[in-house]
Amino acid sequence: MNALVIGAGMAGAACAELLSQAGHQVSVFDQSTHIGGRLYTLHLDWADIDLGAQYFTAKDALFQKQIDKWHQDGVIQQWNESPWMTDNYNSRPSPDHQIRYIGFKNAQAPVKHLLQSIPVYLQQHVEYVRFKQNKWYVDLTNHSQAGPFDTLVLAIPLPQAQKLFEAELLSGLNLPEVEVKPTHTVAVQLDEPIKTDLKWSFVKERAIDWLGQTNVKPNRHCKNQTWLMHFSEGATQMYQYNGDLSFVKLALLQLSQIFSTQRVGECINHFNFYHPYARIFSKTLGQNFYWDKTLRVGFCGDWCFSGRVEGAYLSGRHLAKTILNYH
Ligand SMILES: Cc1cc2nc3c(=O)[nH]c(=O)nc-3n(C[C@H](O)[C@H](O)[C@H](O)COP(=O)(O)OP(=O)(O)OC[C@H]3O[C@@H](n4cnc5c(N)ncnc54)[C@H](O)[C@@H]3O)c2cc1C
Repeated sequence: MNALVIGAGMAGAACAELLSQAGHQVSVFDQSTHIGGRLYTLHLDWADIDLGAQYFTAKDALFQKQIDKWHQDGVIQQWNESPWMTDNYNSRPSPDHQIRYIGFKNAQAPVKHLLQSIPVYLQQHVEYVRFKQNKWYVDLTNHSQAGPFDTLVLAIPLPQAQKLFEAELLSGLNLPEVEVKPTHTVAVQLDEPIKTDLKWSFVKERAIDWLGQTNVKPNRHCKNQTWLMHFSEGATQMYQYNGDLSFVKLALLQLSQIFSTQRVGECINHFNFYHPYARIFSKTLGQNFYWDKTLRVGFCGDWCFSGRVEGAYLSGRHLAKTILNYH
């Protein structure tokens, strides 16, 4: 079988690796300049910034087995700082029993590891997919085409996947409805550190829902104390048209309110990122992936499962197992 996987995030990598291990010819296309999708560390000269997932956890034995392998191969490491909880009143330690993992040196390391022996073509934005004479073909932004492929896997957020199909083909696929939540992420580097034991915190009742110091993460380079914040869905939507700088100002305001007993230093560097598809959830429960055996097209991603890294991995893996049953 000759398969094309669209999307080099965790779901696409988990699917592609299993198909390739079974002896099939697999190619991966991604529109981005990098592997990893929403698992990505941006290396700036003043800091390494984890733009998407800050860490991942495992509940499922299959994912735990993969984690153990990544650990053995030195691709990931544990992140042992325990969480705090911040709300409108205060910030306090909120320890739990979760084991948290991060990619070694960068968040995308485990995805890269899965794809190490698979051809991955970056900056290949798929605009359209066509099913012709029992084979799949794709149109790319640069007016080129690729195909034929026996099997097509869309390991991308469902709203992005749906745009690639003609309406008639799509209507027969019985895909679920999904809910999409955008997030704005801001990193601010301060000239002087805030003196606090809070390393990272879940946040409630505020414009942000996550706050953490990037400089305390192992194997992330930072020149000074650097705070990363994810804005809540509501605040992201409310301030979206006010420009990036308004998010930086809001982020600094959050710091001065949360650490109100201290002087918050000057911001010497900042970075903004908008995730239109930060969190995606299927409104239909119970299906880990979607597969049409007649057309030989599959859909996977975090949106099928839990909206998290583990869910993306499991969705890709389960789809690959099903595809292998048909080949
Ligand atoms: C701000 C933020 C914080 C998060 N925090 C956590 C956390 O702490 N823990 C956790 O477990 N999870 C977290 N998540 C969720 C986690 O990042 C995702 O669940 C997971 O990475 C999704 O993987 P995926 O493979 O399903 O999708 P993605 O990583 O989105 O991969 C899809 C890939 O498809 C590519 N693509 C899309 N359309 C096309 C096209 N037309 N042509 C070619 N390529 C295309 C994209 O470039 C992308 O690389 C967070 C996400 C965000 C955004």
